[in-house]
Amino acid sequence: MEERGIRFVRLWFTDVLGSLKSVAIAPAEVEGAIAEGVGFDGSAIEGFARVYESDMVAAPDPSTYQVLPWRQAGRSTARMFCDIKLPDGSPSYADPRFVLKRAMQKASDMGFAYYIHPEIEFFLLRNLLPPEPLDDGGYFDHTTLGDGTDFRRDAITMLEQMGISVEFSHHEAAPGQHEIDLRYADALTMADNVMTFRVVIREVAVSQGVHATFMPKPFSEYAGSGMHTHMSLFEGDTNAFYDASDQYNLSKTAKHFIAGLLRHAPEITAVTNQWVNSYKRLVTGSEAPQFACWGRADRSALVRIPQFTPGKTSSARIEYRAVDSAVNPYLAYAVMLNAGLKGVEEEYPLPPETEEEAWRLNERERKALGIRELPHNLDEAVRLMEESELVAETLGEHVYEYFLRNKREEFAAYRRQVTPWELERHIRIM
Ligand code: GLU
Ligand code: MG
Ligand code: MG
Repeated sequence: MEERGIRFVRLWFTDVLGSLKSVAIAPAEVEGAIAEGVGFDGSAIEGFARVYESDMVAAPDPSTYQVLPWRQAGRSTARMFCDIKLPDGSPSYADPRFVLKRAMQKASDMGFAYYIHPEIEFFLLRNLLPPEPLDDGGYFDHTTLGDGTDFRRDAITMLEQMGISVEFSHHEAAPGQHEIDLRYADALTMADNVMTFRVVIREVAVSQGVHATFMPKPFSEYAGSGMHTHMSLFEGDTNAFYDASDQYNLSKTAKHFIAGLLRHAPEITAVTNQWVNSYKRLVTGSEAPQFACWGRADRSALVRIPQFTPGKTSSARIEYRAVDSAVNPYLAYAVMLNAGLKGVEEEYPLPPETEEEAWRLNERERKALGIRELPHNLDEAVRLMEESELVAETLGEHVYEYFLRNKREEFAAYRRQVTPWELERHIRIM
């Protein structure tokens, strides 16, 4: 740090709703921070503590040390992610990073390492309120300089400077919408990467005088921003999802894992799609899923099996398409993992692939095929989560209770709103 002229070290952690928290310390304090942690008042952080047990300690994880590329010239800054501990040194039950570590430990006890590759979509806006897209491009369009093309170049350069590899990037379907796909990593590293990603994108936007938003569905008329999540399990060096002899190249483990995701999808959706606005994205006609089914081509299916690259067994994976870009990645990766593992443990049978696009089927046909619907709004999602042993166990009692309470409040506030749509539709009623 001395050699590189680092002046500040930021300690990062995440609250229950997935917002990044940061405290800066001087380089001279780092040794002490690594040895003993840095105390803070947990009661002031969303979801962390009840007031009477508010002392918490942020313990930096030195393996996550990176210099922030947007802070240069005499005020260089680095960051480390932290684990949150209670004053007695035990892990904090409120720390989303711990929730994911616990789920990954369970996978590891079963012999599996858990890998993630996300496709992250977001909008670039000229103006925030009302939102105004930066360009009028479409899917894979090459837009001109100043319309976001140099934005992606700058953002990717910065991500790579921070050790985050980007696989590819392109303009998405909606005006102002972009997608950047990160190269796969273990789930904990990837959850940290997603947190860093959102900061980097916002920093680059500010530096270019534009705005970036990860809101799931900022425009009624355009597709929303998903964060399709590709997952695989490895046993040592072997991809546990791959089987050469299967017609889909999917192993038994992969099939049970998919079956687990499909069966538990409705009850985990409050976590993978946590905002009132998230449910505006999960509608017909925007390539977002609505039904708990799987397939290879159907882009309205919840689980899609991407084309397998011949000879590259490590690329066998499954894509879960519900997740949106405003998710808490630690909690989402944990509930998806445990839903899949439940299927593996209990050997759930995989329902047949839906060959027809699921949204074209009527309700009776879907029922006959055993295809369940994802919740239509946050209220339904929360009610399903309230009944879920799987989510309660995965999140732990504290995060589970806090999350439910917070989301009930969000929906209650939303219910009181009279929207422009209702006004237009009903002001002349009767
Ligand atoms: N934007 C779509 C969604 O909300 C996804 C489009 C795509 O297939 O990449 O999920
Ligand atoms: Mg996309
Ligand atoms: Mg996708």
